[in-house]
Amino acid sequence: MALQLRPNCEFCDKDLAPNSTEARICSYECTFCADCVENRLHNVCPNCGGGFALRPIRPAREWRPGACVAKQRPSDKRVHLKYSLEDIAAYSERIRNIPPQER
Ligand SMILES: [Zn+2]
Ligand SMILES: [Zn+2]
Repeated sequence: MALQLRPNCEFCDKDLAPNSTEARICSYECTFCADCVENRLHNVCPNCGGGFALRPIRPAREWRPGACVAKQRPSDKRVHLKYSLEDIAAYSERIRNIPPQER
């Protein structure tokens, strides 16, 4: 099963193309832009409390048979946060100072 390449930032709804260098994901593939991760979420995923990593870019070119963005399409389902901004701020405040490897 391939990584789900989701089309947008869950927080600000910015488009994140499969080759975007701004996309960040948590271990559950919750997807946000770099700006939101840094300045709004403070590296706390609002859905699971984990930290984020750069989302790897799926190659556009088929270097190996079947392994490229045209053969394993990105998701077209836009995802939106289900928590209020106040809830997210309090949640992040509570967790942000604990390093991700100790959460
Ligand atoms: Zn964003
Ligand atoms: Zn998450």
